[in-house]
Amino acid sequence: MDELATYIAAREKDMLKLLEHLVNTDCGTYVKAGVDRVGDILAERLESLEFKVERSRQKQYGDHVIGHKPGTGMHRILFIGHMDTVFAEGTAKKRPFRMEGGRAYGPGVSDMKGGIVALLYALEALKEEAAQVYNRIVMDVVFNSDEEILSPTSRPIIEALARKAHTVCVFEPARPGGEYVIQRKGVGKYTMTISGRAAHAGAQPEQGRSAIEALARKTVALHALTDLAEGTTVNVGLIRGGERSNVVAESAYAEIDVRVPDAAAAARLDEQIHRIAGIPHVPDTTCRLTGGVLFPPMQQTPQMKRLFEAVQDAGRSIGIELRGIATGGGSDGNHAAQFAPTLDGMGPQGSGAHSDREQMVISTLTERSKVTALFLSKWPEVVGKIV
Ligand SMILES: [Zn+2]
Repeated sequence: MDELATYIAAREKDMLKLLEHLVNTDCGTYVKAGVDRVGDILAERLESLEFKVERSRQKQYGDHVIGHKPGTGMHRILFIGHMDTVFAEGTAKKRPFRMEGGRAYGPGVSDMKGGIVALLYALEALKEEAAQVYNRIVMDVVFNSDEEILSPTSRPIIEALARKAHTVCVFEPARPGGEYVIQRKGVGKYTMTISGRAAHAGAQPEQGRSAIEALARKTVALHALTDLAEGTTVNVGLIRGGERSNVVAESAYAEIDVRVPDAAAAARLDEQIHRIAGIPHVPDTTCRLTGGVLFPPMQQTPQMKRLFEAVQDAGRSIGIELRGIATGGGSDGNHAAQFAPTLDGMGPQGSGAHSDREQMVISTLTERSKVTALFLSKWPEVVGKIV
C-alpha cells in the first residue's frame, strides 16, 4: 500500500495549511462561535469524504459535528476528535500558529488539531487510493466541542456510537516520546464543603469549631490513600476556607483529583473517600461530599492488544517502530473503551498540552496520517478476526 504513504507525503503542505487555519481559529470550550467555525470547516471536509453530516446543536458550547459514511461491509469504526481547547478567547491572536526547528506551536496544535488533520488526510488517501476498502468500511465520526470540560454533552453521543462500533480510534496526541495510548487511568473529581462554627479565636476559642482543622485532617487522610505502586493517586489540589486569622473558621472547601488504574480501585477509593468525609475529625462540624469517578478506566483488552499490533504492523511498513504506554490522563477514549476496543493517542507527537509551550513534531503529522491510512486499509481483515 505504498500509494497511501505517497499520497499523504505529497500533501504535507496542505495539511500544515489546514492545521494553521484551525489553530488560528480561537476555539476554547467557552468560545462557542469559534468552535462552531471549526465545526464548519470540518463538516465541509467530511462531506467531501462522502460523510453525511449532522450537527448536535448546543446552547452553551459549540455544536458537535457528527458524520456517518455507509459502507458495504458489516463492521463499523468510530473516529473521535475534540474541537475545543482549554484556552481563553484571544489566545490564537496572541500566539498564532508558527513553525520553528521542526516543531509547530499554537493553541491546540497537538491537543488536538494535529490529530484531526492527520485523520482527515488518512481518510482522503484511502478514498482516492484504496477506494475498495474505503467503500467497504462503515464509518462514524464525532468531532465534539466539550472534551476539555469532561464531555458533559457529548459523552452520551460518543457512548451510543461506541456501542455500535467494532473499533474506536481517538486522535488525541501521541505522548511526548511518540507512544500511542493503550491504557488510561480512571479520573475522578470530588469536592468537600465543611461547615463549622465561628468564634473569636482569642476571647471564646472553646465555642469555635474549626472547619479548617477538619479539612486539614481530612486532607492528610486523603493523601494517605495515594498508592503509587498500584497507580492510585489522590490530590487535594485546591482549598479555601476561613475569613481572618482571629476568627475560628466557619467554613472550608476542597477540590480533589483522583486517578485509578482499574474499576476495582475506583470502587474501593470511592468508599474510602466517603468514609473519610464521615469521620468527625472536629466534633460538631459537617462535611458535604460531592463527585465521583467521572472517567472510567480504559484497560487494555486482548482485542485492543490485537488492534494495536495491527497499528504497529502499519508503522513497520513505513519503517517506524511504534510503542504504546499507559497514561494517567483521561480522554473520550475512557468512555468509548467501555463499549468497544479503543485505540488512543493516534495523533501526531506532542507535548506541553494545556500550556503556552504546546507543540507538535511536524514530521509526525504525515507519519501518523500514513500509519492511520495503512492501518485502516488492513482493518476489515483484522477486525474480522477479533469480533
Ligand atoms: Zn485533548
